[in-house]
Amino acid sequence: MPLRRSLLRTLLPAATLLLAAPAIAQAQQQQGGEIALYSSRHYDTDRELYEAFTRETGIRVRLIEGDADQLIQRIRTEGANSPADVLITVDAARLARAKEAGILQPIRSQVLESRVPANLRDPEGHWFGVSKRARVVMYDRQAGPPAGLTRVEDLADPRFRGQICVRSASHPYNTSLAGSVLAANGPEATEAWARGVVANMARPPQGGDRDQFRAIPAGQCKLAISNTYYLGGMATSPRAEDRAVAERIGVLFLNQGPGDRGQHVNISGAGVVRTSRNPEGARRFIEYLTSPRAQEIFAVGNMEYPVVADAPVHPALAAFGNFREDQLNAGQYAANAAEALRIMQRAGWR
Ligand code: FE
Repeated sequence: MPLRRSLLRTLLPAATLLLAAPAIAQAQQQQGGEIALYSSRHYDTDRELYEAFTRETGIRVRLIEGDADQLIQRIRTEGANSPADVLITVDAARLARAKEAGILQPIRSQVLESRVPANLRDPEGHWFGVSKRARVVMYDRQAGPPAGLTRVEDLADPRFRGQICVRSASHPYNTSLAGSVLAANGPEATEAWARGVVANMARPPQGGDRDQFRAIPAGQCKLAISNTYYLGGMATSPRAEDRAVAERIGVLFLNQGPGDRGQHVNISGAGVVRTSRNPEGARRFIEYLTSPRAQEIFAVGNMEYPVVADAPVHPALAAFGNFREDQLNAGQYAANAAEALRIMQRAGWR
């Protein structure tokens, strides 16, 4: 998957790119009422995008923001009376939970099936990834890339004793990552791996992803496990201290060797709510999110990678380099998350 793009693309006027998306042009001819969007994302860029969608389609967007699990619970509680048409959230495990809770409906869309790679959407069409993030190893650029660390499995190698900083096992980012290890290697190898990672920790798990790589220049750990967008956000921060931290940090994409499965990625995704009164408008909205211009704005709002192959990548992300991603379906590692957590906790990963 090529990640480096010509900067020219980003310089093209927005209107050109919007008109280039056939779904949008088609949608312009129809009138569509309103959709209610339940979103756990809260970026100004997302709002701009929703306004552009309204201008293109005539469909108004009512935005209801909240924590992902609260939004899922709210839709369940509202039942048949729920005004929700679209749910947007981060992490495949949460999207899988929404599907499991029965609050999403399967949709068929040629646009989505052709633009969103198969590994980043529910095979039954309950949810579709609209941007993605890689969960990588970060290291001190002053020390250079760690020798002997090329795979996520290597994090258990005794040569990295006392070096790793990572957040708690129960966070969805870690259960999704461990769910992908479980899918690749089975339960016994995953438990041995988790024990090795715990033995290699520089300190007990604490804080969020940013705190892990911030601890590198602070001298508390040599290696950090984190999502790429946190570092992308720091690299483009208005605060000089943040940019100084980001400059110290190198990104190591994992499992890139020939024949290896590729780097684990997680997603932000969207699905049509089962009780939606405007499923047509909801589908068009999610399709809109996959247009090249929308992909650029939506992904960059959180410094994520677009899911659509021809959408531009922010230069701060492109600077990390290219990588090949694990083709395991996001729904599969999400389904493994509960078992992965039990394994990690048995291994002593708090
Ligand atoms: Fe996050």
